[in-house]
Amino acid sequence: MIVWGSKGEVSVLEANEHKHCPVCEKERTFLVQLHYKVHHVWYLFKWVTSKQYVKVCEVCQRGEKLATKAVEETLGKPAIPFMSRWGWAFLVALIVGIGVFGSIADSNRSSQVQALVATPMKNDIYIANVASLLKSPESTSMYGVLRVRNVDGNNIEFDTPRVTYNKLKGVTKDMSSGKASAPEYFEGTIVFTKDEIADLQKAGNIHSIERH
Ligand SMILES: [Zn+2]
Repeated sequence: MIVWGSKGEVSVLEANEHKHCPVCEKERTFLVQLHYKVHHVWYLFKWVTSKQYVKVCEVCQRGEKLATKAVEETLGKPAIPFMSRWGWAFLVALIVGIGVFGSIADSNRSSQVQALVATPMKNDIYIANVASLLKSPESTSMYGVLRVRNVDGNNIEFDTPRVTYNKLKGVTKDMSSGKASAPEYFEGTIVFTKDEIADLQKAGNIHSIERH
């Protein structure tokens, strides 16, 4: 669940002006303040919007708005807490990190696939898009489980699945539920050469290979 929200915060820059306050009708100290809004996700990843400088009476908090540029030129940039200003950057870093981690995992998987394709063994389980293997595929994505039945020199004989799916998810579900281990999951066989399987791998059509 994503928790998010925002709240107004005030940072006081100076309190050095004494003048008559028309609201209090007395001599008061006037404060230069920065009002800003901090938005957050999970209270940790924050960013700031709607900065507004004001000069207000210390007691009644009434006064006037000030131009941002003029204030920052004379007083410098205000003291907004570091995390309020830059907390969002940590969220960006986290998302980028997850992306990098994902692509490392992908490249590990594909180098593993490459290694296993080169040395096929009986009972290897291939999760592959078999559409490109068929002369007239029903769809461009037909994910299925192929099980190595026999390796004979350059030829690899696979048990072929009764069902294929247009999404990878259908196959991974069958794998995790154990459905794909049942003998009746497969029907018939098909023979490919090592080169054909290597082409399939190069084209990115082998998602993963399991060897037990
Ligand atoms: Zn006042």
